[in-house]
Amino acid sequence: MPVIVFDLDDTLYEEITFVRSGFRAVAAYLHRRFGIHPEESYAEMIEILDAEGRGRVFDRMLALHNRLSVQLTKECLAVYRSHEPAIALAADAVKCLEQLAAFPIYIVTDGNKLVQRRKLQALGLLDDPRIRRCFITRRFGVRNEKPSPYCFLKICELERANPEDVIYIGDNPNKDFVGIKPLGFRTVRILRGAYAKLRMRETHEADRQIRDLAELKDIIFE
Ligand SMILES: [Mg+2]
Repeated sequence: MPVIVFDLDDTLYEEITFVRSGFRAVAAYLHRRFGIHPEESYAEMIEILDAEGRGRVFDRMLALHNRLSVQLTKECLAVYRSHEPAIALAADAVKCLEQLAAFPIYIVTDGNKLVQRRKLQALGLLDDPRIRRCFITRRFGVRNEKPSPYCFLKICELERANPEDVIYIGDNPNKDFVGIKPLGFRTVRILRGAYAKLRMRETHEADRQIRDLAELKDIIFE
């Protein structure tokens, strides 16, 4: 029986919704502490994100309010990371989990341990009986994050399955497929999120590409 393994961010839900939710929490925090108008700081963070990417959003926004300090940037980051995210599964993910409920389903996700756990919790995936286990790779050390096949081989062990029986669905061709493909795992790329248009070498590309998780059942049953 095939074993289905999903990535989390931009595979089962839209990661940008987490980012927005985190910015809302930071805006509310700065409002409480300094009376900075939350709609204003939120809009600034979104604008900086769009223009420059994620790296220095808090620094740049705090500077606009003459509040830039290492300490306050740290606090913003802590608020962002520890907030209760207002996020939801993508509509196709909800359907797909229903359709595939008969199969063993796992999640393998990289990233900050506490943040990823909060996301999984907010999405209801931590105690979803259809999901056998959520692997937050960093719990096993940074070296076992993707593209390392470590957690995928653990799943093989748990399921007494061969890599050929395991299908991984992810969105990021930089790291989702390159480590597991040579071992025989099946790979499916969902074209969504920041990497949707990224083209990679054959070694990094998935065996298959889909635009909607509804297409997954055809791949599994073919
Ligand atoms: Mg992802």
